[in-house]
Amino acid sequence: MTAPTCPVCDGRDVAELVRRERLPVMQNVVWPSPEEALAAPCAPFTLGVCRACGFAFNTRFDPALMVYDPRYDNDVPSAVFTDYYRSIAKHLAAQHALTAAPVYDVGCGKGTFLDVLCEAVPGARGVGVDPSCTPREATPERPVALVREMFRAGLLSERPSLVVCRHVVEHIPRPVEFIRAVVDGVRSHPGTPLFFEVPDLDWIVQHQAFWDFCYEHCNYFTPSTFGYALRRGGVALSAARRAFGDQYQWAEGEAGESDPALPGDAGEAVARLTRYATDEQRRIEAAREKLRAANETGPCVLWGMATKGVVFANLVDPEGTLLRGGVDVNPRKQGRYIPGTGHGIHAPEWLATLGDREVTVLVMNGNYAGEIRARCEALGVRARFEVP
Ligand SMILES: [Zn+2]
Repeated sequence: MTAPTCPVCDGRDVAELVRRERLPVMQNVVWPSPEEALAAPCAPFTLGVCRACGFAFNTRFDPALMVYDPRYDNDVPSAVFTDYYRSIAKHLAAQHALTAAPVYDVGCGKGTFLDVLCEAVPGARGVGVDPSCTPREATPERPVALVREMFRAGLLSERPSLVVCRHVVEHIPRPVEFIRAVVDGVRSHPGTPLFFEVPDLDWIVQHQAFWDFCYEHCNYFTPSTFGYALRRGGVALSAARRAFGDQYQWAEGEAGESDPALPGDAGEAVARLTRYATDEQRRIEAAREKLRAANETGPCVLWGMATKGVVFANLVDPEGTLLRGGVDVNPRKQGRYIPGTGHGIHAPEWLATLGDREVTVLVMNGNYAGEIRARCEALGVRARFEVP
């Protein structure tokens, strides 16, 4: 094996710290039968940290394994999530004239963010670009067109009022080149505002959230390395902040120069991840032990079968003996099985069929805890809730 190279600064000195023998390569693709789920593609994962710039990435990432097609589904139909989208839309509308020209969403998924934005900002219209979307034309009722393509600069045919790129850069093995392509796309429209959002590695490490390292995400940004990667890609940053209970981070700016200094905190980043890695196996075993104990009093389930639930099940219950299954509010996932372990995904109503004993519900994302508790109460499910 050749030594890994940092995809952000091209540094050759990379400490490999967090290892997984096998992770499902697409945790947001679920399967119609347990057999197919168990046979889903898996691959090894190693988190490396660049000693020069502090950037963390999967050194064993193989982009050839990734297939973003219409089966890919990371939708979370939740009031909490819609409120979050609305808060971003309001924040952006307060700064930019979003009704003057289309808002482009690079990596728009099913177009949900643009739908919410165009509802929250009357007169706005959107164009979403994503290789996994179902293409559609804009209509007066739903002014969001979707284009099924990989992003390329030529797609920005009209001057945009804003270009949004949410939860994409963490999937791209050459993030700086990708950012540069987005920036180049707006260079002929100077001053076009750019908005990027990714998960925040600091939150994962602080919360020891071992279930947040997944194969789909080859990149793990701290605010420091995110800013550095964006500047290297040619973004002149104007603002950055943490969001969504600090699990995410935003950065805003416009096309500018590309000549940043290396972040000064790379040593700290390596030290922090080294400490995390040392303790991780103990954390996973503790989660397993907790589930064994909880199984004495009743069935244990996960709630939230997107990234967090799928990876948690794969790491903590690979044999499928501790967790009865998972709940997800996305109806397209219900009745299907998660890659790697084949745990079933169910509608919330399923919890009412598990018998009289108290159900332990592991809430995979604490941001939804209130919503999940209310749903269980409405269903009359006797449950206790834990945020791992
Ligand atoms: Zn680096």
